[in-house]
Amino acid sequence: MAEEEIGEEYLFKIVVIGDSAVGKSNLLSRFARDEFDHNSKATIGVEFQTQVVEVDGKEIKAQVWDTAGQERFRAVTSAYYRGAVGALIVYDISRKTTFENIKRWLDELNTHCDTTVARMLVGNKCDLENIRDVSVEEGKNLAEEEGLFFIETSALDSTNVNTAFEIVIREIYKNLSRKVL
Ligand code: GDP
Ligand code: MG
Repeated sequence: MAEEEIGEEYLFKIVVIGDSAVGKSNLLSRFARDEFDHNSKATIGVEFQTQVVEVDGKEIKAQVWDTAGQERFRAVTSAYYRGAVGALIVYDISRKTTFENIKRWLDELNTHCDTTVARMLVGNKCDLENIRDVSVEEGKNLAEEEGLFFIETSALDSTNVNTAFEIVIREIYKNLSRKVL
C-alpha cells in the first residue's frame, strides 16, 4: 500500500512586544478575530492565538503570542521568545516614550533570538493623528537604521493590521525557502 502523503505544515511563532498599552493585545485580536476591545481586557490570560494565512498556495498557521501584561513589570520571560521566527515591535504614535523604548525592546529581542527573526516596527494608533507625537519620518528612519520593516497601524479602525502580520509571515516564509534550497 502506498505511503500516505503527509502535507507540509507550517507553524510560525510570532511575538508581539512593546510597552504597556501601545495596543499589542488589540492588534492581535483584530488580526485573529477582527475584534477591538475598548476596555483592554484582551490582555488577560490569553497567551497566543492562531490564525491561518495563505502564502504561495500554502496554508500557514501564524501562532501569535501576547505578553499578557508581563511587560508592565519588565518581566517578559525567555519562554515567551523561545522559537519565535517573527516579531512585531510596537509603539504608540501618540506617546513618544513608547517610541524611545523601542531600542530596549530590540535589545531584549536580540538577547533571546537570533538575527534571522523577521522584524516589523509598528507605529500603532495612527487614527490618533490629532495627538500624534511621533512622525512617520521618525518611525521610518529608526526602521531603516535597525533593518526593520515599518508600518503604521490602527487596531481601532483596522488600518494595516492584517498587512503588518502578512508582511512578517511572507518574510518568514521567504527565509525558510531560502534555507531549504
Ligand atoms: P497592550 O497593553 O499593548 O496590550 O495594549 P491594549 O491592546 O490593551 O490597548 C491599550 C489601550 O489602547 C486600550 O484602551 C485600547 O482600547 C487602546 N488602543 C489599542 N489600539 C488602539 C488604536 O489603534 N487606536 C486607538 N485610538 N486606541 C487603541
Ligand atoms: Mg496587552
